[in-house]
Formats: sequence, C-alpha cells, structure tokens
Amino acid sequence: MAKRIAFIGLGNMGGGMAANLVAKGFKVEAFDLDAAALERAKLAGCTAHTSINAALQGVDAVVTMLPNGTIVHNVFDNDVFKWAPAGALLIDCSTIDVATARDVITQATAKGHQMVDAPVSGGIAAANAGTLTFMVGGTDAAFAAAQPILAAMGSAVIHAGGEGAGQAAKICNNMLLGATMVATSEAFAMAEKLGLDLQTFYNISSKASGQSWSMTSYCPVAGVGPKTPADNDYQGGFATALMLKDLRLAMAAATDAGADVPMGRRAAELYEAFASAGNAGLDFSAIIKTMRG
Ligand code: NAD
Repeated sequence: MAKRIAFIGLGNMGGGMAANLVAKGFKVEAFDLDAAALERAKLAGCTAHTSINAALQGVDAVVTMLPNGTIVHNVFDNDVFKWAPAGALLIDCSTIDVATARDVITQATAKGHQMVDAPVSGGIAAANAGTLTFMVGGTDAAFAAAQPILAAMGSAVIHAGGEGAGQAAKICNNMLLGATMVATSEAFAMAEKLGLDLQTFYNISSKASGQSWSMTSYCPVAGVGPKTPADNDYQGGFATALMLKDLRLAMAAATDAGADVPMGRRAAELYEAFASAGNAGLDFSAIIKTMRG
C-alpha cells in the first residue's frame, strides 16, 4: 500500500484532505503555489515543499486537488509526468471536464502509471472531517490501488466505471442538485405568494412527492427544516460560483454527448444570471432570492 503521497493543491478542500491522510499515518509531501496554504499544510503535519519536483521525489502516489481542467492538464504535463517516480499511482480529485480527465488518464497509462479521476461530493466541512464521497473512474486495478488512500479521506468510495466516469457521475449529480434547488426555491417562493405558512408547506412537502435533498437537507428558507446556510444569510456552504462551474461543465458534457438537458440548461442560465448580479460568493441555495424577486 502507498505510504508516501505527494499532495498538490492544498486549498479549501485539499488542506483538510491532506490533514486526514497525515492523521491516518501517510507521509504527505505537500506543494501549493500559495505560501499560506503550504504553511497550513505544514501545521497539519505535512512536509511543505517550495517546488513541485521536490514534492514528487520518491512518492508512491500523487493526489491533486486543483481549481480546473486547464490547471490539472498543465500540472500533469509539465510536472507530474516529468518528476513522479515510474509506476506511481496518480489520483486527481479536482472537479474537471470529462474530456480532460480521460485525456490525462490516457497519457498517464501510456507512461506506465495507474490513474483514476476521483472527484468528491461534500464541501469543506466534509473535507476537514474526512467524510467526503468519492466517485471514481478508472480500471478495476487502479480503483483497488486508490481505494485505501481515498478511504482515509472519505466515508464513501464508489467505483463509477472506466476513466472519466467519476467526473461524469459528479456533473450529472450536481446538475440534478442545481435543478432541484431551483425547483425547490420556486415552490417555496410560490407557496409564500399563495399565502401558505412555509414551515407548514415544508411539513407537507417533505413527507410528500415533492421531497428532495434540496428541501430536507438543504432547505433554502431560513428557519425552516434543518440548520442550513439559509439560516446564516447564505454565508458559507457551497458557493454559487462553484455550482455555476459544475453546471458549465455539465452543459459542455451534455453538448459533447448529445444529451438533451432542458432543466439543467435552465438551472445553468439562472445561476449564470445570479452570479453575475454579484452573488457568486453566496451559498447556491440563495438562488431563492431570484424567485422571491
Ligand atoms: P481552492 O481554490 O481553495 O484550492 C485550490 C488550490 O490549488 C489553491 O490553494 C491554489 O493555490 C492551488 N493551485 C492552483 N494552481 C496550482 C498549481 N499549478 N500548482 C499547485 N497548486 C496550485 O479550491 P477548492 O475549493 O479547494 O476546490 C478544489 C477542487 O475541488 C475544485 O476543482 C473544486 O471544483 C472542487 N470541489 C470544491 C468543493 C468546495 O466546496 N470547495 C466541493 C467539491 C469539489
């Protein structure tokens, strides 16, 4: 089993994930372009490196948690494929487009590495707590090799299929989440306009056929349902900017695959407008403000 892991990208998510690897007994060689992120990783017990090639020396595995597909492509092309030891296991946990994920894994395989795409569900709190859900794409052998490392950072590790299948599952799930949050928000806004008490509507709908995770676990209305970012003026949680990122990836994948996604497309348009009106930093459930007018 891999013991020494290079961890590249120690931001909001990667910082907590690397700390959990350390807590589970892995030796973590950390690299990030941001000195503050690197300092936090050091405090969590990682060895901090100021160059990526130093972090990659002699490791058994490499985990990346980076902002987007272009950066992932560059980091693998310019550094990981150059400096990672022959045969090192490669795991990309970033949320990126399916085409880039497949391309990078094809290159990795040609260079003799096993590699999986392993994007996550669950936000910063789950990354810190080690309770992320990993959706993993790759061969059976690559999945088996990655599983113990991912299990140290999450509570569910699911093999979604071949290379790129993790990213495919992630964007289909988040497109569904975006659409159900929009639908849940418009139902609450309409219930309000029809004079219904919103707690009463929740009590009914959460036990009826309109129920969804967006309603019962992440209700967009303050004071209704469990405690959510709505109770904190939509601060924290899963930013509108990140939901929009995932919806854009979903729309690109739908076009590539020739999939008809009218609800996802409408959700993407609504989040696009909401983000450009200055709300990109608010939790994505704040989309209810659009429906409330
Ligand atoms: P972040 O911006 O906080 O962290 C990204 C880190 O990567 C930063 O510290 C940045 O300095 C570093 N970085 C950028 N380019 C680099 C390079 N070339 N070499 C080394 N380091 C580099 O982002 P995040 O919130 O941690 O998200 C990371 C990934 O996880 C994204 O793909 C995001 O879509 C996905 N994700 C985020 C959440 C969330 O709630 N934040 C949830 C699920 C998935």
